[in-house]
Parts: sequence; structure tokens; C-alpha cells
Amino acid sequence: METVDDTLVERPRPFARIKAGAAALARSAADLALPPQCLACETPVATQGSLCASCWSKLRLIEKPYCARLGIPFAYDIGLGALSAEAIADPPPFDRCRAVAVFDDVARKLVHGLKYRDRLELAAWMAGWMRRAGGELIAEADVIVPVPLHTRRLWWRRYNQSVLLARTVTEAAGKPLATATLKRIRATEQQVGLSHDQRDRNVRGAFQVPASGKIVVAGRRVLLVDDVYTTGATVKASTRALLRAGAVAVDVLVFARVVRGQI
Ligand SMILES: [Zn+2]
Repeated sequence: METVDDTLVERPRPFARIKAGAAALARSAADLALPPQCLACETPVATQGSLCASCWSKLRLIEKPYCARLGIPFAYDIGLGALSAEAIADPPPFDRCRAVAVFDDVARKLVHGLKYRDRLELAAWMAGWMRRAGGELIAEADVIVPVPLHTRRLWWRRYNQSVLLARTVTEAAGKPLATATLKRIRATEQQVGLSHDQRDRNVRGAFQVPASGKIVVAGRRVLLVDDVYTTGATVKASTRALLRAGAVAVDVLVFARVVRGQI
């Protein structure tokens, strides 16, 4: 199957594209002049596109053993397919979630750099690690769907960081990317600062799969891609919309996730 649809990542305001282009040019000129910098803290490093030793030591990669469902790391190996208490008490609508790192300190700097600071160069590095963390999920996916932004937010932000991550993941895997399959039909409040329940209410009914998208996901295993998993409200609402549209199953791949007790 080929790429199903591939809408523009950027929808800049007038002049924003020129400004962004000029900024990118200035950045690449600066890159030539300056020694390579750490992706997270911007201290000098030996090679372009890497982390310094200090940030590396602080980035908490999530490795096995972890909950087969939620991908939450376990302190001890309790056997293949073991589930966390959270996955048993409150089973998510998706099958499996995998994340590269715990969402704290260094991972937060990377996520926020990509999301709020126009540091698009982070996407390739972050997606490279997502391919490693989600290899099994990517291999089994029929189609890859990024979590969408509402049009209004996309307009202001100019790009959707989840699309950038999903695109890099799909290019390497040779899987179809469907960027207009899932729509955010209701503008929601920023999730930052909201409680678990408030986040759930905030995104309930916010996502929909249009008729054209149903053809893409019906009967298929979908891999949903986002930058960060905090309470999971956004990916759960997205998953429910995809399942309603006929997806047989949904897996979730993010760069970072909150691990309870470490928020
Ligand atoms: Zn650093």
C-alpha cells in the first residue's frame, strides 16, 4: 500500500514561511560556524546531532522488563507478557504502548524543543530512537497515523510535531503514513496543568475519522504516533475514534511517557 495521503506539514501564515525559512538559514549558517551542540542542553559535543555525556546519563531509556500493555518499566523481571497493576485495573483501549524514555528532564527538553521551539532537527533523532523502541509495533502495523492537531493550532504552530515523528518512522519502515485519517474536530484546551479526569473530559469526542479515513483504517492494525504520553487521555480518545472507524487494533508509539511517581 502506498502513502494514503500526505497533506502539507506546514500551513504557515503569510510571511511566517519566509521568517521560518530565514531562521532555518540562519541556523544552518550558525551550524557551520559553531561547533556541534548537544541536542538537549546546547553545550559543545564532538558530533552533530547527539547528546553530551551529562544529558546521556540523565536520559532514562525505557528497556525491558516492562508492562506488555502500557510499556511501564518494571523494577524486576516478572515474566514475559506480565501486566502492570495499572493495565489490569484500567485497561486502555489500545493494545500496546511503547516509549523511548521516561518524560523527565532531558526527554522533556527534547519534546518541548520540537513542539514549542521550532527545533525541527530533533525529529530525526527522536524518531530514530522510536524505531528502536517500537520495532515490533512498527513491523506489525498496516498503517501509521499521527495524533492530529486542531486546524487552528496547526495554523499557529505551523507544523504538527507528531507528523514529523511519524513521517521519519514510516520512511524507514516502508509503511503507509495516513495524516488526514484522524481529525481533531473540536479545539481542546491545552492539556498542560489539567488533572487526569479533566484531560479525559477535555478530549472526549474531540477526534473523528471521516468517511475517507474509514477506508484507510477499516480492518487494519493502526500504529498511532505522538510525541509524549502523560495521562494517555489524548491517545485513548484517538484510539476509540480509530476503533469506531473499524480498525482491528491500535498500538501507540511515543518518544517519552510519564511514569507514575516521577511526574
Ligand atoms: Zn547536554
